[in-house]
Amino acid sequence: MDEATARSVLCDACSALYGKDLLVSAGGNVSIRFDNGILITPSGRNKGSLLPDDMVKITMEGKVSGKGKPSIEYKFHLALYERRSEINAVVHCHPIYCTALAVRGERLRSDLTPEGVILLGDVPNIPYRTPGSDELVEEVSKIYRSSAAIMESHGAVTQGRTMEEACNRMEELEFQAHLQLIVGNAVGLPREEVYRLRKK
Ligand SMILES: [Zn+2]
Repeated sequence: MDEATARSVLCDACSALYGKDLLVSAGGNVSIRFDNGILITPSGRNKGSLLPDDMVKITMEGKVSGKGKPSIEYKFHLALYERRSEINAVVHCHPIYCTALAVRGERLRSDLTPEGVILLGDVPNIPYRTPGSDELVEEVSKIYRSSAAIMESHGAVTQGRTMEEACNRMEELEFQAHLQLIVGNAVGLPREEVYRLRKK
């Protein structure tokens, strides 16, 4: 994908995530891979009013290129892209229900409905580490095989082959977290059904 298109896709994704209350105020960060590195949201800016030109360009080697200050979390985004060549978008947010589970240190159950199983698969927890730290990069790197994860005492992260897929996963993750908090210890789908859905 060329840079101009990537800037526009990233900008539209931020507006959509903000509109659904998945991105709140200046929190969270979103990135996209393009022909020549990645583009990521700038540090400390409200995600509801970003323009394509505000996105910050970073090389795959981690060098900030052009104007703007990138989100402090850009290193964990790069770590995820490095580990899987098919990943082209990473979304990190602090949605209220995901964050409620994150603060409780609870695992998200993706086996309550078929969509959870199909879109999310198994959702691991990432132990708390200080935002922007190398320790957090190390912990996020460990879940590179997962589509989505809960970041303890912090928020959530999803990744996808396209921006649409990464955003769908974040929206579904928040839906499942909300559902889980409503239904408590309800029985999930039978194990055989989970297995069947995962093979789809
Ligand atoms: Zn965060």
